[in-house]
Amino acid sequence: MGKAGVGDSTADKKKPLKGEVAVYKFYMIEGNSVTRNKRDCPRCGKGVFMAEHRDRHSCGKCGFTEFTEHSKKATKKR
Ligand SMILES: [Zn+2]
Repeated sequence: MGKAGVGDSTADKKKPLKGEVAVYKFYMIEGNSVTRNKRDCPRCGKGVFMAEHRDRHSCGKCGFTEFTEHSKKATKKR
């Protein structure tokens, strides 16, 4: 058996796993509206997601930072 290189059938077995690559995770399209798990940058517009930090979201593209409400309380440390 010298033929053991290009197997067509093997490729079939390789299905994309759930949560393998995550871009699609960010989008949750319901009908016409897009509800996103991530916040998108108000400056850059939709499609540019902001990085999630503990107390804020920040855009890696333009540098916009938006603090979450939660942090407002947390920042006030007597
Ligand atoms: Zn931005």
